[in-house]
Amino acid sequence: MNVLLLGPQGSGKGTQAQRIEAEYGIPHIATGQMLRDAIKQETELGTKVKPIVESGRLVPDDLMIDLIRERLIEPDTGEGFILDGFPRTSAQADALDAMLSEIGRELSIVFEFQLPDDAATARLLRRSELENRRDDTPEAIARRLELYHAETEPLVEHYRVQGNLVGIHADHSVNEVFQEIQEALDQVAARS
Ligand code: AMP
Repeated sequence: MNVLLLGPQGSGKGTQAQRIEAEYGIPHIATGQMLRDAIKQETELGTKVKPIVESGRLVPDDLMIDLIRERLIEPDTGEGFILDGFPRTSAQADALDAMLSEIGRELSIVFEFQLPDDAATARLLRRSELENRRDDTPEAIARRLELYHAETEPLVEHYRVQGNLVGIHADHSVNEVFQEIQEALDQVAARS
């Protein structure tokens, strides 16, 4: 089962991805976390992207596409994967379509986490106190949400046209959201 999570920062994608990973045994691939790990380990990629990630801007498409191409061929994705944080631009979405068709796979389902900006901002500010993420400052949060609406939200239409888009009420509790997700995933599993 190949799952894609779309939605603004703070909408709970990471939390739900961890629940899906635990319940269905498919790996959570979170590009933001991969970049933060690279920054911490001071790899070549990490050094290059550090100022971009910390200011809340988008890392160039070619770097992200290479990163995902290498990750999707890892053996742990054999039964599927949960993509969180990629694609974020239409160039990345087109590259993902091409990559998947090259390896003979397709997205089983795309979830759109729906949450208004004020709720997302409140959650991110709360997270900044707990996790001390460098990009959870008010300026970086505003920039990231703006980029979400400008660059990533249009991808909802891309996937609606492909016919596998499911909207999620991301303002509900973690358990309620997971229940919505599970119902949709169980339908997908029953079809295949
Ligand atoms: P996230 O944890 O998904 O909010 O990602 C944190 C940061 O990593 C983003 O604000 C971007 O700077 C960078 N990033 C993560 N995924 C991507 C992507 N697909 N394209 C460009 N930049 C990304």
